[in-house]
Amino acid sequence: MAERITGHTELIGLMAYPIRHSSSPAMHNEAFAKLGLDYAYLAFEVDNDSLEDAIKGLRALKMKGSNVSMPNKTVVHKYLDKLSPAAELCGAVNTIVNEDGVLTGHITDGIGYMQALKDNDIDVIGKKMTIVGAGGAATAIEIQAALDGVKEMSIFNAKDKFWANAEETVKKINERTDCKAVLYDLADLDKLKEEIADSFLFTNATGMGMKPLEGQTYVPDKSFLRPELIVVDVVYFPRETALLKMAKEVGCKTMNGLGMMLFQGSAAFELWTGQPMPIEYMKDILDIKY
Ligand code: NAD
Repeated sequence: MAERITGHTELIGLMAYPIRHSSSPAMHNEAFAKLGLDYAYLAFEVDNDSLEDAIKGLRALKMKGSNVSMPNKTVVHKYLDKLSPAAELCGAVNTIVNEDGVLTGHITDGIGYMQALKDNDIDVIGKKMTIVGAGGAATAIEIQAALDGVKEMSIFNAKDKFWANAEETVKKINERTDCKAVLYDLADLDKLKEEIADSFLFTNATGMGMKPLEGQTYVPDKSFLRPELIVVDVVYFPRETALLKMAKEVGCKTMNGLGMMLFQGSAAFELWTGQPMPIEYMKDILDIKY
């Protein structure tokens, strides 16, 4: 590191709270070192109260950009100059790019999901998908998939505090993209079975399957799945959720959330540096299999 940092090194941040557990600094700094790029990535404890000052600091220090995570993703747009179409539709930002003092907010979670599918030779463009979820991860995926050309989307969620968000997402997709989206109550399991049966791909984009819901799934049994169906889980800890285990037993092609995690970082990396992350090298050193 001492050899890498110079008077020219450009700084990229991560603003979130809590943040000390994050693997993003290791991921980005490994990639900068591998490609010989003169950047350094550091994590900063920033909450909603200190966010405005932190963004002023980013401008004053002419930092190249930053990642933003909870609790700042849905409020940081107030302090930026522009938003990408996906960030505007999602109402959330996870990446800031500073171009000569103009700060643009992007959301790369959905891009990461779509790129991970592509990396796994899964082509959902022009097809129908069913997805469960209405939180941050789900919204980013749903908006990006619709923008990228998924033809039909059946969205399921429990009638909890996220339901209104799901209604809003469906409305935006139908008004602003060519995708046709419909929202269903996750309690209607007959409908869930019907929609999965009619889909090319099924995705869990909720915390179901990870702690404290580890070992659980809302898919009641194997009759909901078929071998030709592709089953994706955004959860990556554990690597194999109860849903993915069931899907593998049925013979489905599956993908866990590690690919989305890697490619959302890679998309941000490319926005800052103009160069793609060395993906195969990163998979190797981070032991990513998905
Ligand atoms: P969130 O809190 O914003 O959303 C929670 C979602 O889970 C909502 O749709 C909610 O209705 C649903 N939910 C919660 N409890 C449920 C239950 N008992 N039954 C059915 N649905 C339930 O969370 P988020 O940030 O969107 O994260 C969701 C998941 O996505 C987490 O597991 C997280 O680890 C994962 N994630 C993965 C990546 C990645 O890169 N792979 C990125 C972000 C999040």
